[in-house]
Amino acid sequence: MTTTARAPLGAPARARFDVERVRADFPLLQQRVADGRPLVYLDNAATTQKPRQVIDAISRFYSEDNANIHRGVYDLCERATRLYEGSRIRTARFVNAGDDREIVFVRGTTEGVNLVAQSFCKPRLAAGDEVLVSAMEHHSNIVPWQLICGEKGARLRVIPMNERGELVLDGLDALLGPRTRMVAVGHVSNALGTINPVKEIVARAHAKGIPVLVDGAQALPHLRVDVRDLGCDFYAASGHKVFGPTGIGFLYGTLEHLEAMPPYQGGGDMIRSVSFAGTTYAPPPARFEAGTPNIAGAVGMAAALEYVAALDWEAVVAHEADLLAHATQALAAVPGLRIIGTAAEKVGVVSFVLEGAHAHDVGTIVDQDGVAVRTGHHCAQPVMEFFGIPATARASFAFYNTHAEVDALASAVARVREVLG
Ligand code: PMP
Repeated sequence: MTTTARAPLGAPARARFDVERVRADFPLLQQRVADGRPLVYLDNAATTQKPRQVIDAISRFYSEDNANIHRGVYDLCERATRLYEGSRIRTARFVNAGDDREIVFVRGTTEGVNLVAQSFCKPRLAAGDEVLVSAMEHHSNIVPWQLICGEKGARLRVIPMNERGELVLDGLDALLGPRTRMVAVGHVSNALGTINPVKEIVARAHAKGIPVLVDGAQALPHLRVDVRDLGCDFYAASGHKVFGPTGIGFLYGTLEHLEAMPPYQGGGDMIRSVSFAGTTYAPPPARFEAGTPNIAGAVGMAAALEYVAALDWEAVVAHEADLLAHATQALAAVPGLRIIGTAAEKVGVVSFVLEGAHAHDVGTIVDQDGVAVRTGHHCAQPVMEFFGIPATARASFAFYNTHAEVDALASAVARVREVLG
């Protein structure tokens, strides 16, 4: 993890994060629900809201710049192509990739992981080989590996975690064995909020020549991600988790790997030449972007990254840490409430169970107060199994959330047992 301030060196003492000014950029947050109460949106780990700048960029693209990319000679096509490829450059810069050809646009994290599993890992996998994931992975970073392991007779192995929801790395060197072909690990857990020491995991895997994919879906909105500093081979993320649109994300892969990988899907735009005798493929990233891509999505995601990059990042980090500390304290004070996931290094995610109440009841009752939290297994059933619970309620914060919203959450949760009697 690398966190960097955006203010120039020697700038005067930093002002507090101006959350109200930032909230004004997000039209959806202005609405009222539940008897006229303000919406308290605390489901940011599922998807984030979009600032006006992103909505406008997408609207502007369709109003002024829409054309299919890469294959036309007319001005509009060239403009659309420039915007799409400019979005790639913006994305590369955001994660500090060394070359914009290392950014492949995909539908989201899920597609990025599947691409690496199918195109990079599967050809290297033989019966008896192993793929290593962690105990706190999202299903998107488990099932793609199970699919290829099942096909090849390989085995999925798991880095364990402790009761706080932290990875236990004592046995990592033993797990990184001679048959390990790939490590796939989440940067931040969506169910627990844990920030994993991915840089260390990459270093220890690389010491044995084992490549690493990082699932960055939950990291991008909270951490400054530097893929070269992490040293990972692949990094997958989703636009919609970082204030951009759905249906777009990116896979970072080192040029060396991408150039050696076969296509993932066949179709238009990924070829160099096609004949019935045989086809040759375009170099990356086009090789992995078959068909008309989500052009407006890429433009919207780039606008979101632009928006995030312009924030005073130190102030964002301090504000989110403050929200997390306040929520942890306020919720822990509710009788019968147990927080699931108490790692020392966390982002603003608080998963919890309430004695005598099913998580879905918690979610339904707090919704009556206008508070939106997610309930369920959060696509991390092995995490639920580890803690011996079927589900949690989860409040997840973004930089636009406020202290008052945390208070609204805590008082709504405190009311649940009253309502249930
Ligand atoms: N990994 C993690 C840690 C996630 O939180 C999510 C989304 N909940 C995903 C992967 C999948 O992301 P997407 O659905 O955008 O592909």
